[in-house]
Amino acid sequence: MKTAEEYLSSLRDRALVLWIDGQRVDDPVDHPKVRPAINAVAETYRLAHDPEHAALATAHSELTGGAVNRFTHIFRQPEDLIRKIELQRILGRITGTCFQRCVGMDGLNALFIATWEAGPEAHARFLDWLVGVQERDEVICGAMTDPKGDRSRRPAEQPDHYLRVVARDADGIVIRGAKIHQTGAANAHQILVMPGAAMRPGEEDFAVAAAVAADAPGVTMILGRQPSDERKGGPDAGNCRYCGQEVVVLFEDVRVPWSRVFIDGDLAASATLLEAFAGYHRASYGGCKPGNLDVLIGASAALAREHGVDGAHHVKDKLIEMAHLTETIHGVGLAASARSTRHGSGVWQVDPILANVCKQNVTRLPYEIVRLAEDLAGGMMATMPSLADLDHPEIGPRLRAIIGSEARGRLLRLVEFMTYGAGAVPLRIECMHGAGSPQAQRIVIQRHIDWQARIEAARRLAGLENP
Ligand code: SF4
Ligand code: FE
Repeated sequence: MKTAEEYLSSLRDRALVLWIDGQRVDDPVDHPKVRPAINAVAETYRLAHDPEHAALATAHSELTGGAVNRFTHIFRQPEDLIRKIELQRILGRITGTCFQRCVGMDGLNALFIATWEAGPEAHARFLDWLVGVQERDEVICGAMTDPKGDRSRRPAEQPDHYLRVVARDADGIVIRGAKIHQTGAANAHQILVMPGAAMRPGEEDFAVAAAVAADAPGVTMILGRQPSDERKGGPDAGNCRYCGQEVVVLFEDVRVPWSRVFIDGDLAASATLLEAFAGYHRASYGGCKPGNLDVLIGASAALAREHGVDGAHHVKDKLIEMAHLTETIHGVGLAASARSTRHGSGVWQVDPILANVCKQNVTRLPYEIVRLAEDLAGGMMATMPSLADLDHPEIGPRLRAIIGSEARGRLLRLVEFMTYGAGAVPLRIECMHGAGSPQAQRIVIQRHIDWQARIEAARRLAGLENP
């Protein structure tokens, strides 16, 4: 397993095509808008070698016969799903942001299931690739979301808005299109493209799952603009160590050899992949988001002390409410994992209703938590001058007398970073749309709830016959 330092140096070996703010960047690893995001991913490597966390951060792989980083592991037992959530909470608390490696992990597991259903040939190709991913301990960017364009039109009516196969020959396929909201793409070794929607007969070219190197010819990345960009590396960064990363990735006639094509036109396998991935990743939000919210609760509690109001009943009550809502999210993520079932492939799957309820809660409860954090922080979190002014020999001492301690200033910046949008990827927006927008979860919940059983329970108690 790689160490954090080895991960960093492995990124330098890539010939990545990355654009930031209208400029091609040659050395992304040291770029101030990229490095904090790389630092967040690096924590997933560091924990694997940290005696305190190694048991959680690593797992035994039946494929390699040795220990692997949990982010490349296949869920072979229910405990693997629970440990994933627990690990995500720890990493969410350490980084206070998105550490970017879960999309790949959830994608690997979903693809294990989908290729098993697709047949022995597809599954063998996938396993061969997976062994390499585990041995090299790679970051896999799970690339699912197509731009989608006009939602009322099918992919074939607007092909440029969906990634698709444009050519096939004896050696492999050629893919064209784009993927948006690509978490951690510029910090990854490989990109796993997956269909972003259920495809219908006639849309086989869009039902493709394949792996390409992050620096494969034809792959171009454009870094997402973040409200906190100008502050990175400076005193007003808020989170002075880490940030998340979202990227637009263009695939302009990227060649993929058959050995890295796992699904090509198999609509059933493609649908399995989509649903399995959605379940895993929606439960994942029951891990990382509570970890992030722990930081916000901590910042609010620390500020209450700075303000001398930590003994006030209404302050304590607001902090309790923030903790209660955070544990509610985490509890459902754990429950979705505890009530798992074994797929025929041997991979364990989360409970689909609870996984989607978990993510649905994440589209709501953090909004209340953020409201309470803003309430407790006070207006200064939005109106405070730069912390650079605090250090200025002329204005600094006079300003300090007003703002109070540097600790207060830094904590206010952290709350600002995590709440009203200054954050790397604003926490609330990620909670709303990451792992699927709210309506996507409601569709799955609607489909999996046994409505008839509920009607029959009610009719029986109302003294009515059930047909
Ligand atoms: Fe992992 Fe959460 Fe980031 Fe998704 S949003 S990659 S689950 S940290
Ligand atoms: Fe996400």
